[in-house]
Amino acid sequence: MKIIGLTGGIGSGKSTLLKWIELKEIPCFQSDQVGKNLLENELKQKVVDCFGLHLYESGKLDRGELAQIVFSNTTALKKLNDIVHPAVAIEFKKFKDENKTKPMVVKESAILFESGIYKSCDFIILVCASMEERVLRVMKRDGMSRAAVLERMSNQWDDSKKRILADFVIENNDLEFAEQQLEYLFEKVLYETKD
Ligand code: ATP
Repeated sequence: MKIIGLTGGIGSGKSTLLKWIELKEIPCFQSDQVGKNLLENELKQKVVDCFGLHLYESGKLDRGELAQIVFSNTTALKKLNDIVHPAVAIEFKKFKDENKTKPMVVKESAILFESGIYKSCDFIILVCASMEERVLRVMKRDGMSRAAVLERMSNQWDDSKKRILADFVIENNDLEFAEQQLEYLFEKVLYETKD
């Protein structure tokens, strides 16, 4: 089974393109979403032990507060990563086992390169869009200010660094064109070379 990594900066359109991939019946694992779900459930106690009960005061994780804690504190960020990453890796192993008869699965993560996960992928797809387009998309999608979006972007690698490591780059300024690129990639490249 081939593991196809799918990555791209905030607002590049990973989740949007993943819907197209899922329609082709290729199993997709959304690492960031799995991590978020684990933080609300199985990992809650570990987070409380590490960072305090106040983070779940409303019953749900206060993600903004957690981001504040880890944003400027590398030790806290490492602690959080040490809680989340191994748990997501276990979930991914289960996911692979469930899909072991499939020729390929897609693993989506915004921080595929930054986390080093890309090293365990057989093929890496990078989704790109212009910086301005991404800022406008996220401002609209999440109701965030331009400054807040730019701050989040500053925690991710620049696309120029990612392009060097990617096997295929999808330009997603226009959705129809992006889907044509996906079609080409999966039909002509990935399926033809799946073994
Ligand atoms: P994040 O890393 O923040 O989860 P993402 O890479 O998964 O972001 P999406 O959520 O897929 O990005 O897309 C961000 C927003 O941009 C969404 O509202 C989506 O509908 C929109 N969008 C995605 N691709 C396009 C496109 N080609 N044209 C216009 N809007 C798009």
